Amino acid sequence: MSVETQKETLGFQTEVKQLLHLMIHSLYSNKEIFLRELISNASDAVDKLRFEALSKPELLEGGAELKICVSFDKDAKTVTLEDNGIGMSREDAITHLGTIAKSGTADFMKHLSGDQKKDSHLIGQFGVGFYSAFIVADKVDVFSRRAGAATSEGVHWSSKGEGDFEVATVDKAERGTRIVLHLKSAEDEFADGWRLRNIIKKYSDHIALPIELPKEAAAVEGEEQPAVEWETVNRASALWTRPRTEIKDEEYQEFYKHVAHDFENPLSWSHNKVEGKLEYSSLLYVPARAPFDLYQREAPKGLKLYVQRVFVMDQAESFLPLYLRFIKGVVDSNDLSLNVSREILQKDPIIDSMKSALTKRVLDMLEKLAKNEPEQYKSFWKNFGQVMKEGPAEDFANKEKIAGLLRFASTSGDEGEQVVGLAEYLARAKEGQDKIYYLTGETYAQVKNSPHLEVFRKKGIEVLLLSDRVDEWAVSFLTEFEAKPLQSVAKGGLDLGKLEDEAEKKEQEKDAGDFKDLIERIKKALGEKVKDVRVTHRLTESPVCL
Ligand code: ADP
Ligand code: MG
Repeated sequence: MSVETQKETLGFQTEVKQLLHLMIHSLYSNKEIFLRELISNASDAVDKLRFEALSKPELLEGGAELKICVSFDKDAKTVTLEDNGIGMSREDAITHLGTIAKSGTADFMKHLSGDQKKDSHLIGQFGVGFYSAFIVADKVDVFSRRAGAATSEGVHWSSKGEGDFEVATVDKAERGTRIVLHLKSAEDEFADGWRLRNIIKKYSDHIALPIELPKEAAAVEGEEQPAVEWETVNRASALWTRPRTEIKDEEYQEFYKHVAHDFENPLSWSHNKVEGKLEYSSLLYVPARAPFDLYQREAPKGLKLYVQRVFVMDQAESFLPLYLRFIKGVVDSNDLSLNVSREILQKDPIIDSMKSALTKRVLDMLEKLAKNEPEQYKSFWKNFGQVMKEGPAEDFANKEKIAGLLRFASTSGDEGEQVVGLAEYLARAKEGQDKIYYLTGETYAQVKNSPHLEVFRKKGIEVLLLSDRVDEWAVSFLTEFEAKPLQSVAKGGLDLGKLEDEAEKKEQEKDAGDFKDLIERIKKALGEKVKDVRVTHRLTESPVCL
């Protein structure tokens, strides 16, 4: 038993307490995911070490094969995970395991309803992470030492997952992290080699480093217990380096949960390898649900960047435009240097051509989704439509493609649901209609009931109804689609072009003459209050509109 010094008890951040409570009570139907989360963290820690060791090889402390070992003790009812990754200092343990670093956590927590069924969905958006250990354990011990720190600078973090945790400084010979889960008495089934092996195969096969379990050696009577022999139970190769045809959907889905720190399956993905002048692989995912911090400036965005299979940075945002910030995944380049920095990424011309290629991949993937799985696309649009509307303004080169992906409410649609695409609109446009008509306003109810629509209703011409905050701004960048101009029905004198027949035009001219005196009188009466008064033919029920 090593000596513990500087012992102190600290309280969890309020949000952690809430999260812990929620997790323990709402994830009971899927308890085994604790192992996936802890392995995911160990893998991240090894990735970080591998990267830092490029410039500071001494961090490897004489080497040792990078790996994760999972062991168990049936009698003591414990499961232990050990990695030789970057490790944590005492301060790291206090901040990373005592608080939730994600921005907007407090906001997120306010959304919790107290209804466990609803909340367990929300937790998916948030990611579960380290605290999922408490789904199966009533006490968790973490022993860790940061790579490069003295052996006397280890930390022992311990908690029962209630209100607080303890930290103490301890000796730790090996760098990295060991986590001991003291299983709740009802969860001791997890202290079992067969069970652990199956869970690892199921959720963590894609993890790119070996995950080892003790080999089940039959005990020979009268002989001493043999030294533990370890065996690798996962495939231990980077998923994106494997051929597409050999990867199962489940593997893609589990890999997504690892890179995106998400709890739910993705909606869609696109896996590609590019060879030639530039060489890189990419694996891009569309999440099923918008994260709660989609609109926060500091929210994480971007891809995980690898260079020749070595992890280089999280949230490399230079590879996709801002309106695609919800896309998750990895890009692995053979051309970049391992010591590439964010600053270099911003200037490197290689990145520009990768960015346009990756952007196109995403737009293609969304086109496919829209075409082949309209229901899924509907759900995509509900979650990310607002962000996609930033597209035409940001990405001039792909304007037409983006325009094709946009969805709107319309006079022929369902109560305000944004389901009408511009191509669909044009396909059912009236004979002779050479414009795409729309109307913007503050709310759906307001645009839907606008008198501006009367003549369109009468003539059976569809009008797009735009009432999102971004709409007015977005359409100002979207002047046409398939060479048909977009036209606001609220602007100035409306010329319906070929949609009006000669007789109608004649009648309008006659009306203008007939009502001349009346118009003059109204103009006089209103004086300065209005700029102009006109006879209109767009109203069929209302007498006037402004
Ligand atoms: P996330 O993985 O999304 O960051 P987690 O709750 O899973 O969130 O983990 C919280 C943090 O704790 C990690 O970001 C990391 O800094 C730290 N951490 C957890 N496990 C380890 C580990 N095995 N080695 C080093 N750091 C770890
Ligand atoms: Mg994690």
